[in-house]
Amino acid sequence: MKEKTVPDPDRRKTGIVRRKTRKVFYGKVAVGGGAPVSVQSMCSLPVTSHSEIREQISSLAAAGCQMVRVSVRDKKDTHLLSGLCADSSIPVIADIHFDHQLAILSAEAGVAGLRINPGNIGSVEKVTAVLDAAAKYSLTVRIGVNSGSLEKRYRGLYLEDPALALCRSAAGYSDLLERAGFRDAIFSLKSSDAMVTVEANRLFALENDYPLHIGVTEAGPKLTGTARSVVALTLLLSGGIGDTVRVSLSGDPVDEVTVALAMLSALGLRDDVPRIISCPTCGRSHLDVGAIAEALEKSMPRTGKMIKVAVMGCEVNGPGEAKEADIGIAGTEKGAVLFKNGKIYKRLSKDLLETLFSEIEKMTGNNGGIIK
Ligand code: SF4
Repeated sequence: MKEKTVPDPDRRKTGIVRRKTRKVFYGKVAVGGGAPVSVQSMCSLPVTSHSEIREQISSLAAAGCQMVRVSVRDKKDTHLLSGLCADSSIPVIADIHFDHQLAILSAEAGVAGLRINPGNIGSVEKVTAVLDAAAKYSLTVRIGVNSGSLEKRYRGLYLEDPALALCRSAAGYSDLLERAGFRDAIFSLKSSDAMVTVEANRLFALENDYPLHIGVTEAGPKLTGTARSVVALTLLLSGGIGDTVRVSLSGDPVDEVTVALAMLSALGLRDDVPRIISCPTCGRSHLDVGAIAEALEKSMPRTGKMIKVAVMGCEVNGPGEAKEADIGIAGTEKGAVLFKNGKIYKRLSKDLLETLFSEIEKMTGNNGGIIK
């Protein structure tokens, strides 16, 4: 008799079987090897901005960002890294271009990881020197291969088959890493074209077990950039590819984290992200649904406890349509009703948002309340 196939437990839950990779760490955050898909972002401020960059990192961490990359432009920047790392609640990764000495100085300064693009570091010897420094300080190195800074020898191929060119370039670097005996690496293969990014990562994922940082580079402004990123990342993640994500958007990096977590939650890859259900509104609406939903999105922590909160414009369809919400609000002619699991339990004529926030706080406890 034919043996019954036992589905992978993850597959039963999400429909996704994740690719098996080696596990690496940025500080205490594991990437790959079955760790939950993590979310990262990059500061839009220079490290020389002192208090501003610290505030930005705090906002990113509060939004659910698990590690953050900062630009290291010169030696002066490297001198500021150890203080920045000490003040950051999440691992800091140094982003280096052109000058391998900056990577070595960053490693010495105590960053949790390095991101280099070997294509612009200059020579095999310089890349090897960076790997030696990373090994000395037990750091993870991300090898970034981007369409905009591809090695010269693959530029001809890029014109014919851009995904293959990115993959061949990354494969060459993985050989270099093997020769250097360096294992703690993550790869990223990025293009500003969503489908080229998808294809390049699929090709590379066939060949090795490195964890993959996935993202579309220069994806664009908030709305269109979100669409392009989510298309590419969803195609990859639903095929089990991708261990850490960055949604690159022009604007506030906190938005990148919000989008990334919503995407992972929708895919069933994260169950620790609050979910807001809100109606599109119509002529029956008695509430400014958009404003309330946005206030919730900004105020609720993005990690911790899963809670579904509904904001519905009217009582006629509201509670019923949002039955799966743990708590919700629906507009009425005189104000609003609060409901839990589809059942109305309180009528409100004032302080709608405050009451909703305080009820959510009661439900989530200290572990996942509102950030005010
Ligand atoms: S919940 Fe009410 S206001 Fe919102 S879309 Fe449905 S009918 Fe319209």
